This record gives sequence, C-alpha cells and structure tokens, in this order.
Amino acid sequence: MPDRETLHIAELHGDGIANELSASVHQVAAALPIHVQFHPVDLTLETRRKDANASYDAAMASFREHRVALKYPTVTEKESPNKVLRERANFSVIHRPVASLPGVRTRHDGKVDLHIIRIAVGGTYEDAGRRIGDDVAVSIRVIERRPSREAALYAFRLARRLSCGVVSSSKYTIQRATDGLFEDIVRGVARDFADVPHQSELFDSLLYKLLLKPEAYRVIVTPNEYGDFLSDMACGMVGSLGLGASANYSFDERGDVALAMFDPAGGTAPDIAGRGVCNPSAALLAFAMLLTHSGFRGLGAMVDDAVRGAIAAGESTRDLGGTLTTVEFSTAVCRRLARG
Ligand code: ATP
Repeated sequence: MPDRETLHIAELHGDGIANELSASVHQVAAALPIHVQFHPVDLTLETRRKDANASYDAAMASFREHRVALKYPTVTEKESPNKVLRERANFSVIHRPVASLPGVRTRHDGKVDLHIIRIAVGGTYEDAGRRIGDDVAVSIRVIERRPSREAALYAFRLARRLSCGVVSSSKYTIQRATDGLFEDIVRGVARDFADVPHQSELFDSLLYKLLLKPEAYRVIVTPNEYGDFLSDMACGMVGSLGLGASANYSFDERGDVALAMFDPAGGTAPDIAGRGVCNPSAALLAFAMLLTHSGFRGLGAMVDDAVRGAIAAGESTRDLGGTLTTVEFSTAVCRRLARG
C-alpha cells in the first residue's frame, strides 16, 4: 500500500470471544482510508500455559516496536495478563471514557460524557495487608509523585483539547498525607495550564453531584481506587459495564506517552464464544481510541460515531435487544463509515 499511510498495531490475541472481536476490528479497519497493519501476538491461555514468559516477552517486543497495542480479553488462570502487562509496560495512567449511548436503556436520565483519568498504580491496591491477631488488620496506602503527575498532565492536556476544565477528586481532608500529596501535585500541574479551569472535590461529594448533574463534569482525575469505583458507577449511569473501552499509558522522562494499550472493558464471555453473536462495540471503541491517540483523530471520531450511530438506530446485537450477529453489526458500522 505505498500510497496510503500505514498504522502499525501490536494486536494481543486472547480467549473466548477475542477472535470474533479481532475479526470485527479487522473488518472495520479495512474500511478506513489508511492501511492498518496488525502484528498479532498469541496471548491465549493455551499458549500461556506452555510458556507464559515467552508469550509476554513476544507481546512486549511487538508493543515496544509499534508503541501502540490493542488487547482482547484474556482468561486469568495463574497470573492476570493485564497485571503482567501493566507491570512490564510500566503503565501509570488509565483513561476510561464513559458516555451516554442513545439507544441503550438506562435508569438515569442525565447525559453523561465523562473522561475518567486514574492513576493505574498505588492507592490501596498495592498492598493486600496483613492480619494482626484475630481482630485487627492493616494495609498500606501509597501515593507516588511520578504517576500522580503523569495522570494530572494527561488530564490537563486532554481537557485543553476538549476545551473543558479538570476536576481532581480524593478524600484530601481525611487522607491528608496521601491524598493531600496527590492534590498538591495536581495543583502544581494546573499552574502550567492557566487556560484550563481546575477544582478539587471531595470524592463522596463528587459522587453525589455527579448523579444529580452529570452534565457539569467532563474530565476527572483521581487516585487508583477512586477511579476504579467511579468508572463502574459511571458505566452504571449509562446502562452498561461492557460497552466501554479503556487506554493504559506509560510515559517517558518528558511526560509524553511512551506506550499505549487499548482494550475493551468486557471479559471473555465463554458462554457465547464462537457463536458469532458477541457485541464488538467495546473493541471497536478501543480501536477508535487507538486511532485518535495515533494522530488519526478524524478517523477515531468517525469510528466512534459509526458505532454509536448504529446502536442508536437500533442496529445492534442481541445483548442490546437487537438481532444482528457480530459480522452484521460490523457491516452496519462499515456502511456508516462509507457514508462519511
Ligand atoms: P471473564 O471471566 O473473562 O470476565 P465472564 O463470562 O465471567 O468472563 P464477561 O465476559 O464480562 O464475564 O461476561 C458476563 C456476561 O456478559 C456473559 O453472559 C457474557 O455472555 C456477556 N457478555 C460479555 N461480553 C459480551 C459481548 N461483547 N457481547 C455480548 N455479550 C457479552
């Protein structure tokens, strides 16, 4: 394809519906005006059982070479592939967009259009803690400057691009040392973004206000566990935990993204694997995020719009009340792309 731009992607294959998700992404990629070169790596359980280290080595080699990866769901048996990749790639920030999807039934009538930026490490998730006798247990909570700064920088850059403000959220009045340090770091980054409004909100108050008036929020940055809770709650507000995608980033010394991995939120869905009926929306939205990250912003927005447009028009798979197979849904998305 000498006359078309080529985008190289490390494609990390997994289990269950992973192959069907990959086929859908390939079908949509083929409908784009660029050439997308996928570099497959086998992270299926079968291959990992034979030599897990060799699988992860191959994944990281391809990832380092191409700097962007698309990962499909994988079964966790001995180790969690997501955890291994996070440690090996040194991911420090997770970006989880959550937006209302017209056509998907919800219990909440507010319009949600959020970007949740979360520190991918630390908080209460690093230390499983220990019991002291029968009645007491302790664990350590960690906040580090480098990932906090990277999350804040990412949030402010994104907010500048979206022409909106940043809300940082934690329990800084109680966790004064840890969350206090996080908020100090965010304020420090905010000083370099005079054009981007910033405010800190206590996390409990944020949850309350977000449910009452989600339209008031766009980019939110938090420590690890708060971002985890918030992401699931926001998905509940838009009526689906499985329709979203997320991005995992590691950064270089200058604070620029070094490696970026995109993945659909859902699991391997073994009950429907191989039947051609799974919903590929989250994988396609992950692919759209990857396109945007790789500088193909217009194409990323087109794929995102085409997926949402198809669902809004009732062209959807069974899990959303529609009748389309995975291939038929992917074809509907391609038809929308062709219409421009
Ligand atoms: P895992 O252990 O990998 O998380 P799981 O089956 O426990 O697998 P999910 O994969 O999240 O968890 O599936 C939960 C339910 O949602 C299943 O009934 C599954 O069929 C359904 N589901 C998950 N992903 C999809 C999808 N992409 N399209 C349609 N249904 C899905």
